[in-house]
Amino acid sequence: MYRSMETSELLKDIKEILIPEEQLQARVRELGEAISRDYRGLNPILVSVLKGAVYFIADLTRAISIPITLDFMAISSYSGGGTASSGVVRLLKDLDEQITERHVLLVEDIIDTGLTASYLLRLLRARNPESLRICTLLDKTSRRIVEDLPIVYRGFEIPDVFVVGYGLDYRQLYRNLPFIGILREEILEGGGVV
Ligand code: 5GP
Repeated sequence: MYRSMETSELLKDIKEILIPEEQLQARVRELGEAISRDYRGLNPILVSVLKGAVYFIADLTRAISIPITLDFMAISSYSGGGTASSGVVRLLKDLDEQITERHVLLVEDIIDTGLTASYLLRLLRARNPESLRICTLLDKTSRRIVEDLPIVYRGFEIPDVFVVGYGLDYRQLYRNLPFIGILREEILEGGGVV
């Protein structure tokens, strides 16, 4: 566990650590090994979504032992900073790379209803990649609205709770926690800490 002042200050808002740092890191290594095996010789392009997936993609790519290309998109999926998925997604930054005839792996931090992933898949599919799959760190399967997402790599299935840390935020805070934690209810209900 990192022991910086900032981190310990954030801890007071955390009700429970859902996935400790060591468990996260071990699972990310396993995912990296599986991707290395499956994509050998294919020079895949890993497409990640800002900002939530940055910690995950940084660790995941370092656990991958084959040549890969890395690219980023930025979206905003929530209006008003609440915790409910609006289903409305705005593309803030497009890819720099061409993905036509490339093997594309969409790397997500969390899939909840699946609406965001579904929007991104449509956008990427229109560019005719050779293959298109999803790797998500967290999956709230019980909340899924969109069926048939090609989730081939899944870190952890989690219950229907609002989590923060390891890239995931609440009102732009808590991303720098090294674990996945559940926020205390009064933080969510009280309209946040900003
Ligand atoms: P979906 O469109 O699948 O319902 O939602 C996906 C997006 O909702 C994620 O990329 C993430 O931004 C946000 N999200 C869903 N559940 C959580 C959660 O438990 N914690 C945080 N911080 N964001 C979440």
